[in-house]
Amino acid sequence: MTTHVRNVAILGSTGSVGRSTLEVIVQSQGRLRAFGVTAHKRLTALEEQAVQAEPSWVVATDGCLAEDHGWSKLPTQTQLLTGSEGIETLVAHPDVDVVVAAIVGSAGLRGTWAALQAGKTVALANKEALVMAGPLVMQLAREQHAAILPVDSEHSAVFQLLEKSGREGLERIILTASGGAFRDYTPEQLQQVSVEDALTHPTWDMGPKITVDSATMMNKALEIIEARWLFDVPVEQIEVVIHRQSIVHSLVEFTDGSTMAQMSPPDMKLPIQYALSYPDRWPAATEKMDFSRAFQLDFQPPDPERFPALELGREVARQGGTAGAVLNAANEAAVAEFLAGRLEFINIVPACRAVLEHHEFDASPTLEQLEAIDAWARKEITRWNSV
Ligand code: MG
Repeated sequence: MTTHVRNVAILGSTGSVGRSTLEVIVQSQGRLRAFGVTAHKRLTALEEQAVQAEPSWVVATDGCLAEDHGWSKLPTQTQLLTGSEGIETLVAHPDVDVVVAAIVGSAGLRGTWAALQAGKTVALANKEALVMAGPLVMQLAREQHAAILPVDSEHSAVFQLLEKSGREGLERIILTASGGAFRDYTPEQLQQVSVEDALTHPTWDMGPKITVDSATMMNKALEIIEARWLFDVPVEQIEVVIHRQSIVHSLVEFTDGSTMAQMSPPDMKLPIQYALSYPDRWPAATEKMDFSRAFQLDFQPPDPERFPALELGREVARQGGTAGAVLNAANEAAVAEFLAGRLEFINIVPACRAVLEHHEFDASPTLEQLEAIDAWARKEITRWNSV
């Protein structure tokens, strides 16, 4: 059953996770094939990927940009689809075995949704789908018998650990956090943070949005929410610990006090490969741990005063309903404002809290309601920032 080539559709192939996925496919010794690649804006890079990987399908979701692009280098056997409907056509194709959901932000929700609706296995890098719509997404996956395999490194770690030891006696999930670029900053230093400072990550090489989220620790807040729905555990059983080396990707603790960790050098190719090889393990596409040299692993509790995003994430995970969609959209808009030089770094989290606190909470929203409230929260951030 595992001998046939797995056809992979990569939603968001020109981003950081998308590019790493293509590397994993190249290194898979023919086990994987890029069946489809998609991008929104970076069409030159997308066409370049098509030349390299010779996929059956290419989807350019921005119809206007796609029309202006020449596509002169596109391989003859590759079919081009344009517009966001192209993603739905691609993920529903009977030849697709697994969909890598790697579109960043709430823009990724529809593709993840369409893939689950088509009953496909989803390798989920787009944490926003679970942050925004965790209960709905998990319910759809159950109804369609579609597996969701986490690509987020922390959740992949927890998934791997629970696969081996089972859920019995599970007491806590402990998510590790690098602490981001400002983990050692004083509150005074945090006031002075520039865009350039925020875009330098100590251990992971990622896109700008997630690097800023890492610096505010909003990324970890979103991951608490993601873990709450993905593993169906109450937020009281999810903890965060700062681990600056990014080698332990997360831990699980059992009632008897036994705590297990998953370790590997920080490289997204491992969690991506595991989601694509599951339930098998394949030869490493990445460097392995090197125990021939001395190294240290540090752990320290996060400072809730300097990183208020964590408590906000806990509250939102507890509330469920519309809260996740509001937090996610507010944060995306606030980060965009910060990157544009219009909002101070230390105001990103307070802006999100303000928007959350005056939104009209609904405990069991539909997908359409969540998308509407996403749009509302973005406008509210702009409004909050202009008064
Ligand atoms: Mg992560």
